[in-house]
Amino acid sequence: MSVPPLQLTFVMSGTRLSDLPDSPVEVAFVGRSNVGKSSLINAVANRKQLARVSKTPGRTQLINLFTLPNGATVVDLPGYGFAAVPTREKAKWGPMIESYLLGREALVVLLLLVDGEIGPTKLDLQMLNWVQENEIPYLIVATKADKVRPSKLAGRQQQVARACMLEERDVFWASASKGTGIDRLRGHLLDLLKV
Ligand code: GDP
Repeated sequence: MSVPPLQLTFVMSGTRLSDLPDSPVEVAFVGRSNVGKSSLINAVANRKQLARVSKTPGRTQLINLFTLPNGATVVDLPGYGFAAVPTREKAKWGPMIESYLLGREALVVLLLLVDGEIGPTKLDLQMLNWVQENEIPYLIVATKADKVRPSKLAGRQQQVARACMLEERDVFWASASKGTGIDRLRGHLLDLLKV
């Protein structure tokens, strides 16, 4: 059964928690640069260019906020570990994301993206560890599922779940290019974002 796309509209970009408008309920996406975050947000919304706003030079390191018709919000957090970002920008990432994750009352789930083709990196696991320590509700989404050969998929699914210390069924596998797993993710997000 196909699930309707999330009707996301870009609202604003900010650098800190206090910039963000109030929200009744919010989910946020985070992941290493190049993990496929923009593609996934676009796939969930069935829009080609939506998350492009987050890619506009100067906005890459900002918190970008989208809204649904019911007032619920979706946040695209800056990607971590981006080599081209100057050190002084990198130094800002930690405090910015930490204050958002620790202080955003509306946040119901953080979607932590890992690259399904390569599995969780050291940086991903550090992020996951921090999220767990701070008791932030999260969901692991493995991206680029289409890049894993079908014969390798079951093994890879087991490996990613183990590395994240989760049951296999608790990792969402998705392919933004092929659309695999997008309905399941949409359905889950729509449930979370009910107001
Ligand atoms: P971001 O930096 O995390 O926002 O990542 P992007 O969405 O820009 O994707 C990074 C690269 O991975 C781009 O070249 C995308 O085309 C590619 N990519 C993203 N999602 C998928 C996917 O599901 N399958 C495949 N094969 N490539 C993907």
